Amino acid sequence: MKVLGIETSCDETGVAVYDTAIGGVDGLRAHAVYSQIALHAEYGGVVPELASRDHVRKLLPLVRQTLDEAGLSTDDIDGVAYTAGPGLVGALLVGAGVARALAWGLDVPAIGVHHMEGHLLAPLMEDDPPAAPFVALLVSGGHTQLVAVDAIGSYRLLGETLDDAAGEAFDKTAKMMGLPYPGGPQLAALAEHGTPGVFKFPRPMTTRPGLDFSFSGLKTQVLLAWQASDKTDTTKADIARGFEDAVVDTLAIKCARALDATGFDTLIVAGGVGANTRLREKLRADAQRRGGRVCFPRPALCTDNGAMIAFAGALRLEAGQYGDAAVHVVPRWDMATLPPLAAA
Ligand code: ATP
Ligand code: MG
Ligand code: FE
Repeated sequence: MKVLGIETSCDETGVAVYDTAIGGVDGLRAHAVYSQIALHAEYGGVVPELASRDHVRKLLPLVRQTLDEAGLSTDDIDGVAYTAGPGLVGALLVGAGVARALAWGLDVPAIGVHHMEGHLLAPLMEDDPPAAPFVALLVSGGHTQLVAVDAIGSYRLLGETLDDAAGEAFDKTAKMMGLPYPGGPQLAALAEHGTPGVFKFPRPMTTRPGLDFSFSGLKTQVLLAWQASDKTDTTKADIARGFEDAVVDTLAIKCARALDATGFDTLIVAGGVGANTRLREKLRADAQRRGGRVCFPRPALCTDNGAMIAFAGALRLEAGQYGDAAVHVVPRWDMATLPPLAAA
């Protein structure tokens, strides 16, 4: 089954074609992402109405481009998957409207995909995918969650952030230190030049039991350290490294705890912060020590993309799940309410 995937939940327009007959990484026939970063940069954050309008401009050209790259025409498409939520309502409606119209015109089924299920399943596109059950660490711009995946489609929330998401903490901290928007990846790059241990920040909520996170206090600690510092380039890099190590350690401690609590031996990591090199290294070292396994999507599929939506949608469409013709989006959507993926 060749599934066209469409992602428009926030400030990336993503389109992909995934072919289940090929499967694995090669099943991804083509994918393209158009980022609106430059559009929102002058405002220092995503402006929802501008995001919607830019999706309107970019989505159809990107669909054409992706089909061209895959060497396919619209007639080859067997199903359409689009992000139905969570996300910005206007942005979601653009993707949902185009997806539903395409599916109606082509007379193929379409399914609204949960954006975080898309992130969560992205690692399974890679070679030698793990089988459920496993623990998923979702670390993105809007979410920090530990999820027990008993089976694909059956998700139990084990813990989540009480305030800022991990990616949000990266972005806000970067902004405080004067790095250009969006700062997360830049802060991570800066940290590579820093010396570990020069600045030591707390690992929030690790000294008491539980699987929840809190990153807002850490951000304040970094601000105070930054304001009191000499603000040289070296200090800036050292602070960035101290912050990154605190976030990475905190995530790793909670992942180990979640694996202990569930008894599962496999961890999968997804979402934009999953692209962070130091987090990948740390979780790989931990997995080796524990004798378990950790799986990531390639970095380009950690941040928002259409491939993960095509892939997640394809699994559900193949299981016979699809929606009616209504253009319906769910800006706030609990992943635990998703239907299990019935055995095909
Ligand atoms: P959500 O998926 O929760 O709706 P989102 O879609 O905006 O949020 P993603 O696209 O998954 O989030 O990830 C973007 C986030 O990832 C940003 O906060 C960004 O700073 C962060 N990020 C990307 N690369 C890195 C990196 N190398 N190190 C740390 N953070 C990173
Ligand atoms: Mg984004
Ligand atoms: Fe996302």
